Parts: sequence; structure tokens; C-alpha cells
Amino acid sequence: MQMLTDKFGRQISYLRLAVTDRCNLRCQYCMPAHGIDIVDRKELLTYKEMYRITRVLSELGVNKVRLTGGEPFVRKDFMGFLEMLSFNDKLEEINITTNGVMIANHINELEALKINTINLSIDSLDKENFAKITRRNVFDEVYKTLEILEASSLNLKLNCVIQSGVNTHEIIDFIELTKHKKMGVRFIEEMPFNGVGQRATKEVWNYNKILNNIKSHYNEIIPVASDKSSTSHNFKVPSYLGTFGIIPAFTRTICNDCNRIRITSTGMFKNCLFDNGVFNVRDFIRQGASNVDLKQLFVSIVKEKPENGFIAEANRKGDVSESMSTIGG
Ligand code: SAM
Repeated sequence: MQMLTDKFGRQISYLRLAVTDRCNLRCQYCMPAHGIDIVDRKELLTYKEMYRITRVLSELGVNKVRLTGGEPFVRKDFMGFLEMLSFNDKLEEINITTNGVMIANHINELEALKINTINLSIDSLDKENFAKITRRNVFDEVYKTLEILEASSLNLKLNCVIQSGVNTHEIIDFIELTKHKKMGVRFIEEMPFNGVGQRATKEVWNYNKILNNIKSHYNEIIPVASDKSSTSHNFKVPSYLGTFGIIPAFTRTICNDCNRIRITSTGMFKNCLFDNGVFNVRDFIRQGASNVDLKQLFVSIVKEKPENGFIAEANRKGDVSESMSTIGG
């Protein structure tokens, strides 16, 4: 079978697909209060186009897909798309990253579709702080989703972006959640996307600072084995049911084992979170590309995958200023 391998020998097996650029929250590190300039609906990939891209990629060895956005559940008939995608027998895992506001009623269906892991984004366990960060008053809905997910058969990971002076005092509260709950909490270094986060003005909470903060609180934490291509370094407090991890999203110490590519909601193929986008697959499809054309294209552009996120950033045109909602988080 033809595979997607880059010139550093890394095999690509994981696609992050953004199903929309729209979001129902306004997290202040991700976008301005008035939101981002969303694209015209016809510029978004259709579900059929997304299915086709995923199918072709899965015939080249991609066996995991993470659906993200924007907020995936704000796109009309997202559940129908999931059902369509679940017919792709080459996919071993379908995962979703969501803010959880709109999904409490869908959890049974998600279980029935054998969705593997839900990454639930929640940056604060305090209702007021949560509202300040997201600029929306929906903590109760999100926490209800967390509890239903925790009781479900789905794997649950919490995504928590650490922002200096905003939620750093809650890191231990998040770890304490794992005492009785079988979930993984992952602390994410804030990235300078959209340019309005804390990074420019405040003390930087990077991987080491987050880890040292945790170590100073507990007598012992133990490393937990993870996949080579995992985005987080994972640990647990002995006897706690769940685990916690730190994602060095900005310090980028995980690039060596990267197995990921991204497709944005407008069909832009990205070899790296930090690149500008290398090719618009939507336009290629709309110009009549066959599946063989698509395969050749994917094989050749993956060869150009930069060695790491620093090289990708250095090669980009313009600042890293897009919102993660546009890129697909
Ligand atoms: N709407 C979904 C959600 O909230 O999970 C999916 C899209 S969101 C862009 C995906 C993830 O990216 C979220 O966990 C979010 O917190 C994270 N994210 C967005 N902007 C970020 C930034 N500047 N630095 C680090 N993480 C960021």
C-alpha cells in the first residue's frame, strides 16, 4: 500500500479535520470579542468533500481522525456526518474536540457510533472565571457534559489552556478532578494565535513551569506511558484514577514524532500547525481532481512536511495571527 511518509521518515496516520470555522464561544486567547471573519458557507468543504478527502487519506494509511473546528457541533447535521464517517472501515479511531456546550443530548448516539475519545475544552472550574475566559455564560452546560461523558463509555480528555494569572491557580483543582474520575486532564501551553492572549504581556507558563508548579504541590507524581506520537507528556498522582498531561504546544518539543496533518474548514492542507497552509484541496476537488490525483497530491505534499514547528513558522508568510478556530484546533 502507498503510504504518506515525509522526508524524515515520519509516517502520517492522523488527520485533524476542521468541520467549520464558526464557534459559539469567544475564548479571549482564541478570538476577539466580536468573533473572527467567518467565510462564506460555500467556501466551507461540504460533508461529501470531507468524506472523500478522509477516505482517500485513509487509503494512504491515515487511521485516525480528529474532528474539530470552530465548534464542530454548531455545523448543521454534524451527527449525520459522523454517521457517514463511521462507515469508513479503514478508520480505527474517530475523535472529537468540542467545547461541550451543545452535546449533552448526543452522547448516547456518540457511543453508538463508537466515537473513541472526546476532548472537552474547559479552562476553568469556576463559573465566573469560565465566563470571563469564554465570554459566554455556559459553564453549567459544559460541566453537565463533562459529568455525562465521564459516566459514558467514551474516553474523556479535558483540554485546559494555561494562561498566566487567569487560571494558573486552578491547575491543582483540575488534577484533583482526576482523583475519582477516570479522565485525562491536559494542560496546553498558550500559543500566540490571534495575537491577543497573555503571552506578550505576562509571565510565560510553559511546560516546565506548569510541571514544576505541580511537582511542588504533590509528594510524588509518576510518568504514564503514552504513544510515541502523543502530543502530551503524561503523569498521574499515585492512587488517582485519572491522569494529567502537559502539551508543549508552543515550546514544540514533540515535533520529532509528529504523525499529523490538518485540513482546515476551507480545505487548506497543513503539514504543521505553524505553517501557512500548503495546498487548497477543496479547489482541486472542485476543478475535477480524481481520487488518483488526490493520492498523488497527498503523497507529494507530505514529503514537504517541515522538520518541526519552528522551521514551519520561519518559512511562513506573515505572522502567526490566525485564530485556532480558522486553523482547526
Ligand atoms: N471548539 C472546539 C473546542 O473548543 O474544543 C474545537 C476547536 S478549539 C480551536 C480546539 C482547541 O484549541 C481548544 O482546546 C482550545 O482551547 C485550543 N486553543 C485555541 N486557541 C489556542 C491558543 N491560542 N493556544 C492554545 N490553545 C488554543
